[in-house]
Amino acid sequence: MIQLYQPLNFMGMVYREIKQAIIDIEKMFDVLARDPEVKDIPGAKPLAVSSGSVRFEDVRFAYETDRPILKGLSFEVPAGKTVAIVGPSGAGKSTISRLLFRLYDVSSGRILIDGQDIKTVTQASLRSAIGMVPQDTVLFNDTIRYNIRYGRWDAGDDEVEEAARLAQIDGFIRMSPQGYETQVGERGLKLSGGEKQRVAIARTVLKAPPILVLDEATSALDSHTEHEIQGALERVSRNRTSLVIAHRLSTIVGADEIIVLDQGRIAERGTHARLLAADGLYASMWNRQREAEEARERLAQVDDDG
Ligand code: ATP
Repeated sequence: MIQLYQPLNFMGMVYREIKQAIIDIEKMFDVLARDPEVKDIPGAKPLAVSSGSVRFEDVRFAYETDRPILKGLSFEVPAGKTVAIVGPSGAGKSTISRLLFRLYDVSSGRILIDGQDIKTVTQASLRSAIGMVPQDTVLFNDTIRYNIRYGRWDAGDDEVEEAARLAQIDGFIRMSPQGYETQVGERGLKLSGGEKQRVAIARTVLKAPPILVLDEATSALDSHTEHEIQGALERVSRNRTSLVIAHRLSTIVGADEIIVLDQGRIAERGTHARLLAADGLYASMWNRQREAEEARERLAQVDDDG
């Protein structure tokens, strides 16, 4: 009986491994190939990045006809600068990052990188020029080292560890049971949202793309984690064209320009100081977030005292 059981048990294990690998691959392609209609045009050329400036020109977009999401959006992220997009939930912020990565094509208008319409260049070259730090990072059921190296497969161990240090996740990794060889993912060590986002930042450090898109996680982070992510981002986005889709206004105070999106249109734009002085939508969002944070801190204080 035991002779029969062992091979069956082994086959079960192999089956589970293969199934998991298929799920990993499906997850990856789900992100990359959400819309099969996005195709390279015949004769598409690779994107030639010089300084890495990004420009949206009167961009309109709808996922479903009759329900416009972006209603004529124009802005520029000059080379090496940081532009943040903020606004109420459902305003169309994440849609902007999906369009730049060309997961969907614009309905009208153009998106240009260094003067080239992204519709006319190969998707592979476009995506290799952009480092995406998404809201939800998919981790593979493998070691943490493998998960970071995913940013650039030929990176050496020392480069992986340097990227982790820059992303401020190195300390966490070293405290994990087997350091960089610790298994993570669904069948290994589960990482929090903030830790996963730092893994994504480390991947991006390795990839070293000229353009960075950060889609901040919606979930509230504790102030220590937020501070760590903030530090990591500042280092990665320095001298790199960066578009930040922000939910926590505290993370984008230093942006070169803040664009306030409301129902698919630009409601306000300017620096943090100017927008506060204008006392409009941004100022009221800022005050509301401050009040919520203060209330959270008071509650935490009560918990500590109690
Ligand atoms: P949040 O701050 O909540 O993340 P957001 O400003 O990033 O919101 P988007 O994710 O860009 O908003 O979504 C804008 C609108 O488009 C929402 O009303 C959303 O329901 C809709 N939407 C998003 N993805 C799709 C999709 N794949 N198909 C149809 N509608 C979608």
